[in-house]
Amino acid sequence: MRIQIFKTLTIILLVVFPGCSVQNISRTHTSKQRAKNIILFIGDGMGTAHVYAGITKSAYPFSMESFPYSGFSKTYSADNYITDSGAGGTAIACGIKTKNGMIGVGPDSVAVTSITEIAHKNGLATGVVSTSAITHATPASFVAHNSGRGNYEDIAKDFLNGTVDVFIGGGEDHFRNRADGADLTIKLRELGYDVIMNLDDLKKSGSTRIAGLLAKEHMAKAEEGRAGMLQEMTRKAIEVLSRDKDGFFLMVEGSMIDWGAHEKNMEYTVAEVIDMDNAISVAKAFAETNGKTLVVVTADHETGGLSLIGGNRQYHRVVGNFITSGAHTAVMVPMFSYGPGAERFSGIHENTFFLNEFLDLLNIVK
Ligand code: MG
Ligand code: ZN
Repeated sequence: MRIQIFKTLTIILLVVFPGCSVQNISRTHTSKQRAKNIILFIGDGMGTAHVYAGITKSAYPFSMESFPYSGFSKTYSADNYITDSGAGGTAIACGIKTKNGMIGVGPDSVAVTSITEIAHKNGLATGVVSTSAITHATPASFVAHNSGRGNYEDIAKDFLNGTVDVFIGGGEDHFRNRADGADLTIKLRELGYDVIMNLDDLKKSGSTRIAGLLAKEHMAKAEEGRAGMLQEMTRKAIEVLSRDKDGFFLMVEGSMIDWGAHEKNMEYTVAEVIDMDNAISVAKAFAETNGKTLVVVTADHETGGLSLIGGNRQYHRVVGNFITSGAHTAVMVPMFSYGPGAERFSGIHENTFFLNEFLDLLNIVK
């Protein structure tokens, strides 16, 4: 009976308001679980040992530990059992396995669409935040299309396509200290972006479009003065994007977990994990209040083959051991999820599975 009434109402609505599509109705009135907003965290190089080292070392309860669902993803790329961050980011952002070194393109170098672009096309606000240059492999996978991850100046140009409302990270030099002499920040201002070079101005900005270029190249390490900034960048991105009544998609990367592990430097690595967890706390607090926000935390691959060979929980001490090469490894990486649809991110999945789940939960199509 109820279904019959609903069907009748739907038909009446479609007759009376022909512009009101079935999709719009289902986005607001469906009983199926939906998320209005999605916040995705990527800890570059963050395996389970990195997470547990952070939990052990942290003086405060860990946000990741409070997420009700967890699972694993398989990170291999189209041409290698061990992925790089280009293919890893592309798998998560675009739902396709590509070759190592590639950004937002398939193995044939043809551009593939990212979650950011699809969300933008469907009227959602979008954001990308990282502690590396914003043109670096992980954030670039959500915005740019290039068969060479190192083509930073070309990748910077792709940020002019307007699909990202808020981007905050390093990388100023790739926008205005370029081989071609162009200053892309002029174009960004024409497109309505508030171009911001420091954290204080970022906090003050009232713009709905923000290009935050907070370092010439990469930002500082957490342990060398950057600690807490990712938290503020995340807070600002959420504040701006959540003004969009249609919802938003935001990716936040803890870029330097990977770099600490490449250096086989336990202090550096763990400081970056803890710093990202502080940013996750901001997103989780927003999601708890908002009630319609899914937060997913994962990694693109593991770095360093890290094992924990000693430690003390009471004194927050942990001793790590990295593999000799300090390179990426093939092990599955963890994912943690909270909010509407969070249960879908449990079990073992390919790293390409995120895109369709995100689209389905947001009720949008390519
Ligand atoms: Mg990265
Ligand atoms: Zn790496």
